[in-house]
Amino acid sequence: LTKQKAAKVIGWARSHYLSSTVLPAIEGDRLIIPRESLEVAIERLKEQVIKSKNLSQNLKNLTKDEYERNFISSVVPPDEIGVKFDDIGALEDVKRTLDELVALPMRRPELFSHGNLLRPCKGVLLFGPPGTGKTLLAKALATEAGANFISITGSSLTSKWFGDAEKLTKALFSFASRLAPVIIFVDEVDSLLGARGGALEHEATRKMRNEFMAAWDGLRSKENQRILILGATNRPFDLDDAVIRRLPRRIYVGLPDAENRRKILKILLAKENLEADFKFDELANATEGYSGSDLKNLCIASAYRPVQELIEEEKKGRGSGSSSHLRPLVLDDFIQAKAKVSPSVSYNATSMNELRKWNEQYGEDG
Ligand code: ADP
Repeated sequence: LTKQKAAKVIGWARSHYLSSTVLPAIEGDRLIIPRESLEVAIERLKEQVIKSKNLSQNLKNLTKDEYERNFISSVVPPDEIGVKFDDIGALEDVKRTLDELVALPMRRPELFSHGNLLRPCKGVLLFGPPGTGKTLLAKALATEAGANFISITGSSLTSKWFGDAEKLTKALFSFASRLAPVIIFVDEVDSLLGARGGALEHEATRKMRNEFMAAWDGLRSKENQRILILGATNRPFDLDDAVIRRLPRRIYVGLPDAENRRKILKILLAKENLEADFKFDELANATEGYSGSDLKNLCIASAYRPVQELIEEEKKGRGSGSSSHLRPLVLDDFIQAKAKVSPSVSYNATSMNELRKWNEQYGEDG
């Protein structure tokens, strides 16, 4: 394997093999994957490359505009997103709200075209601490709604050619209208559309924001356009009033409590080889303060322990030589791995307080 290929395979394998008992291992600068798994990995990579080539050809046929073409590589069709609501642990209320508010009107627009009371929602904000599943929810929502998914951040609109941000923004909306139903996911919406920077704000950024708002308003006035702007942020308090108004549904995605951590762990470990009677409750109680993302990292670190043991055994010449005989994971693997993966410290009590206050003032259940 070349180093580049190995890096790709490791990335793919890491996400894939958490749901398998045959884990790849890294020893020094060597990647060890059982042969049959390596073949599967390479096959999958090939499929991905072919799929994305076909897709971009189809999308290229949709537009000749050079600015619109910038967004082709960011579009993911609903059947290729690969995440459903069922893959997300806990957050039942959030999933239900998003289903009613977004997925249903996108799937069954005819139910929302009569009368004045039911109107599809054009702007939703997901806010809460990092790693709580906001991006995951956005992707799953697109799957459930049968909508194309475009993910943008501030840099997709601003870092291109200086001065072109306005044109790019316009192109994003015109291209999206051809991809409807579509969800435009704006991650870290505060950095793209945060409170105006006053005198220090860059002229180009200001113009881009104004263009974004104008295009967005154009969209909001067209009732039957199935396009949703879905923003996510850890810092909703940095958002400007004009943006908050355009995101009328603001949903708090909080840190999981013990019961919800248990649900998330059940999903993360659903396909793992666990000891009989694995004590999910104990693990959930031992992981106070962990986000969904922290829990996932903890599971990955724990899943490596039997692999490392096996490699050690083999080094001592005692192993059977077959890397597929890994012992089941036990609770103690997780307890030991906690020393390596602690809850994210980036979110402190002050920020939590600010979030809570913002939720009370602007949030759905505030
Ligand atoms: P955010 O966007 O809120 O920062 P992400 O959605 O990017 O968080 O979460 C990072 C990763 O953590 C996800 O890809 C997923 O593996 C895991 N994760 C987070 N929350 C959950 C959850 N509720 N259920 C299952 N996995 C989760």
